[in-house]
Amino acid sequence: MKARKRDIEQRMARFNEACRKSGAKLTHQRMEIFHEVAQTGDHPDAEKVFHGVRERMPTVSQDTVYRTLWWLKDLGLITTLGPPRERTRFDANLNRHHHFVCVKCGLTQDFYSDKLDKLTLPESVQSIGHVETTQVEVKGICLKCAAKEKPAKQFKKRG
Ligand SMILES: [Zn+2]
Ligand SMILES: [Zn+2]
Repeated sequence: MKARKRDIEQRMARFNEACRKSGAKLTHQRMEIFHEVAQTGDHPDAEKVFHGVRERMPTVSQDTVYRTLWWLKDLGLITTLGPPRERTRFDANLNRHHHFVCVKCGLTQDFYSDKLDKLTLPESVQSIGHVETTQVEVKGICLKCAAKEKPAKQFKKRG
């Protein structure tokens, strides 16, 4: 699933700005790696980013991709979601949003909700720590996986 063009442009602009501000060198390789995350709505893990980038840059090493992803995270350009660490997924959507996670295939898709943004948490949370943001993760079975499990009934077209 591809991100919207407007979002991709906004993300690339933010990337350029962050590199300039931090004084980091804006290399072609870094740009390609960020673009790989920025252009997708799939929340890829490092492995998937590596494969995507390698299609356009066959010489890129896995190590470079991993290091660059964590560097991008330090710059605040991407966030990570969910343990465990070796399967960390990266997200270039920095707007307030929530996730639908398919428990079968791992599809992670963004959705938006003003209501969930304003979710009231139980007081017990305060005894654990100070809350900064709330992000809801909905788990379920995506339509694709559901269709595989129960082959859709064949509807005959009328007329
Ligand atoms: Zn699925
Ligand atoms: Zn997301």
